[in-house]
This record gives sequence, C-alpha cells and structure tokens, in this order.
Amino acid sequence: MLVDAHAHLDLKQYAADRDETIQRAKDEGVSGIINVGIDPARWQSSLELAAQYPGYIYLSFGLHPNDILQVADPEAVMVQLEELILAHPGLVVGIGETGLDYYWKNVPPETQRRYFIKHIALARQTNLPLVIHCREAMPDLIAVLQEDARQMPIMMHCFSGTLAEAEQCLALGSQVYISLAGPVTFAKATDRHEVARQVPLDRLLVETDSPFLTPHPFRGRRNEPAHVRLVAQKIAELKNLAYEEVLEQTGKNVETLFGLTLTQSS
Ligand SMILES: [Zn+2]
Ligand SMILES: [Zn+2]
Repeated sequence: MLVDAHAHLDLKQYAADRDETIQRAKDEGVSGIINVGIDPARWQSSLELAAQYPGYIYLSFGLHPNDILQVADPEAVMVQLEELILAHPGLVVGIGETGLDYYWKNVPPETQRRYFIKHIALARQTNLPLVIHCREAMPDLIAVLQEDARQMPIMMHCFSGTLAEAEQCLALGSQVYISLAGPVTFAKATDRHEVARQVPLDRLLVETDSPFLTPHPFRGRRNEPAHVRLVAQKIAELKNLAYEEVLEQTGKNVETLFGLTLTQSS
C-alpha cells in the first residue's frame, strides 16, 4: 500500500487545484495522506481539508520549531494544541512537526529544545507518535531523544542524517521509523542512499513533504503526494527489492505507527 506519510496540502500552493491534486494521488494508487499542521492557522485549515476526505486524509499537529516565536503566546498555543488533539481522536494521529532546526536561526536553540520537550510530554500523555523535524541539528536532537523519548513511537520525517545517526535513532526503541522523501532520489544524496540501503525495510516510511522537496525528475517544481511513488521506487532500486514489497511493508509501517486502517486505492 502506497501512503504519503507527510504532506502540507492545506497550503496556498494548492489553492487553485487542491481536489485535482488529491485525485491524482488516488489515481497513482496513494491510499492515504497524513497532512501536517505546523501552527494554529494550519491546524484549522488541515481540519477543514480532512473533513472533505474522511478515511483518506489524517492529521498530525504541532508547533514547528521555526514558528514558535511567530505566535503571540506559545504557551497558550500548546494548551490549544492539546485541546485540539483530544477533541479529534482517530483524526489527529500524530504530534508534530516538532524538533530542532538550526538552519533558519530565527528561534534560539534553547527555546526550540524547551518546546520540543513539551511536545514529547504531550505525545506520552496522548499515546500518539512524534513527527520529528530536524535540520542541521542531529547531534542535539538525538541527545534530547535519548534523554526524554526512549521507547516512544517516532517518525523521523525527511531524515537527513548519516547512517550512524539513523542507527542511533533506531536504537531508541522498536517503534522508531526513518522516513525518506524526495531527496533520496537525487544522484548526489549519498548519505540518504546509504540510509535507504541499510535501514531495515520494516523501519522505513515514505513521504513527500509536499509542496516541498520534489523528487527527481520533477525537481524545481511544486511537489504533490502522487510523487511518493518515486520515493518508494528509489528505495526498491537501492535495496534491490521488488517495488511491491516496498509498498506492502512501508504501508504496514505507516498503519502500525499511526494506528490507521486504510483502504487500498485503485
Ligand atoms: Zn519538516
Ligand atoms: Zn513538513
């Protein structure tokens, strides 16, 4: 089963053709999409989108590390997040994106860390998996996970670390999954190729992060969930496995991690 484990279809990039984009995903055999809301406005737009696609679009909500200081009162927003999650059981199936991002430098690392730990506590309390974003911060991120998030269900979204770092993540517990996105299709992405080859198939997920991270050969254009097929195909090629085997196992993985039962698309 082909599933896009991470996308942002509520964004304005799809204002003109959102339904057509989702139809193309269905036509390509994508059986479900997890849409990720990264701030209060996006939680609302994600809920509205999911209401139109019951049983097809599921949600993960968090306050993105880059957006913590974009809201007037981040403490109050975390309370709002908890209320929203509790109000939508079975629809909001993950906590995040949360994590650390040292690339943009608009939120001090200590602030990011504090809110990351709040998300981890919320995930423990609600029994939901963490959807983790990490950019140029892998050693610090792994240190937080080792201290606070052992034996928790975790999706390492758009994993960009080395194989050694992937192994450190997997060692945190049996419910940790490494998720690969469009960059694994790039010719020069040797670290990602190594991760795809070496991480066991029963610990891998596939995603697009649409509208970002468009895979080869569509790089430079807007991404969309139909392209998750290209990520799965690349993993099959790198692992020297049948494409169908990659679909079957990564589909099971996403259902296990997020507690979903999806219906096979065409
Ligand atoms: Zn992200
Ligand atoms: Zn994302």
